[in-house]
Amino acid sequence: MALVNTTLAAASRIVVLSGAGISTESGIPDFRGPNGLWTREPGSQRLSSLRAYTEDPEVRRRSWQARLSHPVWSAEPNPAHRALVTLEHTGRLAAIVTQNIDRLHQKAGSDPERVIELHGSIFDTVCLSCGDRRPMSEALDRVRAGEPDPPCLVCGGILKSATISFGQSLDREVLLRAKEAVQTCDLMLVTGSSLAVQPAAGLVGLAARAGATVMICNASPTPYDHLAAVILRDPLAELLPALTNP
Ligand code: NAD
Repeated sequence: MALVNTTLAAASRIVVLSGAGISTESGIPDFRGPNGLWTREPGSQRLSSLRAYTEDPEVRRRSWQARLSHPVWSAEPNPAHRALVTLEHTGRLAAIVTQNIDRLHQKAGSDPERVIELHGSIFDTVCLSCGDRRPMSEALDRVRAGEPDPPCLVCGGILKSATISFGQSLDREVLLRAKEAVQTCDLMLVTGSSLAVQPAAGLVGLAARAGATVMICNASPTPYDHLAAVILRDPLAELLPALTNP
């Protein structure tokens, strides 16, 4: 651990890439971990595509029911999220690029300006036709009141959570910010991601090519492990506090 702490201490501009694995210890299941949603029900991945959502009203109705009972509404940040706040207080954390939609980094106290939500957030809805954006709570109230698939109040279009589904492009500005952050860091810390989803996973290669040291903290192997100077497999809620409070 001493070598790892030295690597972290030597870095002056750190960028974190976080994934679903940092929130499993807050009670939000990941997709591809041993207890992940897709590991347990492989067929459910198909329902996460934009095409299935737009073409099949039944998929939308099921999605709204799933949103009503999503664990994110009651989840609290865990010690891993809080450790990144401690790291930020040292003045060396430039950004947290997160694939998570749960806002737990911000809830833990990370500066919202430094959190780049690559895959959006479940706390808002967006209309797929006119782009009207509103708090998710409004749509969930309508579902509870008896609208199983509430349409956009402005144009009648299909409403969806403001998250990126398979087959949906990332916001260009958001991706650009993430790329700039990883290309100017000296340490990239990957926390809780299988690095199976592009373009998020490709940010690791981008950082390495720009000269950053890569540290991967993930319970299972990733396709980018060969680029990492340090690989740690311990549970993040124990590991990150130990790294940031040596
Ligand atoms: P993933 O499910 O593909 O991979 C998560 C990885 O984290 C796995 O390799 C697993 O072994 C590891 N892991 C799980 N718990 C861990 C722990 N406590 N300590 C260390 N490692 C742990 O997740 P991903 O790479 O983020 O990609 C999934 C996609 O699904 C993302 O695009 C994300 O937007 C979305 N998603 C988000 C949430 C969330 O917001 N919390 C939850 C599920 C999925």
